[in-house]
Amino acid sequence: MQDALQTQKTVIVVGAGPAGLMSAEGICAAGHQVHVYDAKPSACRKFLLAGVGGMNITHSEAYSEFIQRYYDKAEWLSTPISQFNADALCEWIHDLGIETFVGTSGRVFPKDMKAAPLLRNWLKRLRDSGVQFHMRHKMVGLSANEVVFDHAGDSVVVQADAIVLAMGEPVGQS
Ligand SMILES: Cc1cc2nc3c(=O)[nH]c(=O)nc-3n(C[C@H](O)[C@H](O)[C@H](O)COP(=O)(O)OP(=O)(O)OC[C@H]3O[C@@H](n4cnc5c(N)ncnc54)[C@H](O)[C@@H]3O)c2cc1C
Repeated sequence: MQDALQTQKTVIVVGAGPAGLMSAEGICAAGHQVHVYDAKPSACRKFLLAGVGGMNITHSEAYSEFIQRYYDKAEWLSTPISQFNADALCEWIHDLGIETFVGTSGRVFPKDMKAAPLLRNWLKRLRDSGVQFHMRHKMVGLSANEVVFDHAGDSVVVQADAIVLAMGEPVGQS
């Protein structure tokens, strides 16, 4: 217990989109204390938009074809994607209690094609694991071990052993 406490780090994740939540899950599973901050009042707002038109989560094609969908980034991404491939993603979703099906296009969808049930179960699992969420905190400053947030007009300074930036694409590039 003492050893665990000595090696446990405090990690800030800025951005409560899918990338931030996935980072938080991995870091928390490694035994660290995770605080997720987001400018918006709730998590994964863009991800929820994906559920409006029917959210696909991955593709069922063979890895050799799948990786080519990343075009010039395929080589760079081959290690992480082969370590957490489409099958692993489906297993991860099934673990959250969400069933999937493969559409005629080969794309994989949650059975009800919605993002909200998946998000609800995911957030619960993260909270139950100890991940703490701080919404309405907009990052306005950053140094090696410190983040400055604007929270309802107040400046909030938070220190951490590590900081993960998962803030999505800049406005106008998505
Ligand atoms: C209409 C639509 C349909 C889509 N359909 C699909 C689909 O079917 N399947 C699929 O896989 N993908 C789909 N996508 C894409 C998917 O939603 C994105 O790829 C995904 O949300 C990107 O995740 P992210 O975590 O990188 O970024 P985001 O989801 O953009 O999350 C970034 C987070 O960072 C926060 N943030 C930004 N700046 C700051 C700051 N300064 N301080 C604090 N917080 C900050 C934002 O508030 C946000 O919550 C769709 C997107 C849209 C818009």
